Amino acid sequence: MSRSANALLGYMVLTSEHIRDCSRCNAILEHACEAWIDEVIEARMRAFGERPQPMGREHLTFVPPSHVWSVIGEIFPELMKCERWPKLTIP
Ligand SMILES: [Zn+2]
Repeated sequence: MSRSANALLGYMVLTSEHIRDCSRCNAILEHACEAWIDEVIEARMRAFGERPQPMGREHLTFVPPSHVWSVIGEIFPELMKCERWPKLTIP
């Protein structure tokens, strides 16, 4: 793997660790994940109307790992306002 790819993976790790350990950023991500779930449920309601849902709110209680980074990407500008945000240099 290239050095820059490893550096980017390192940035992902630092970002993840900060969001996990920082109560401010953790709360922002928690809120964004709840909003994401609400959006998915609303989209399903529009698609399926009043018919029984293939997966209701009780089944969708977390953002799938494959979507977490897209959620983080949406809130990234707000996360970076954190005074404890890790300072990094990307090669
Ligand atoms: Zn933070």
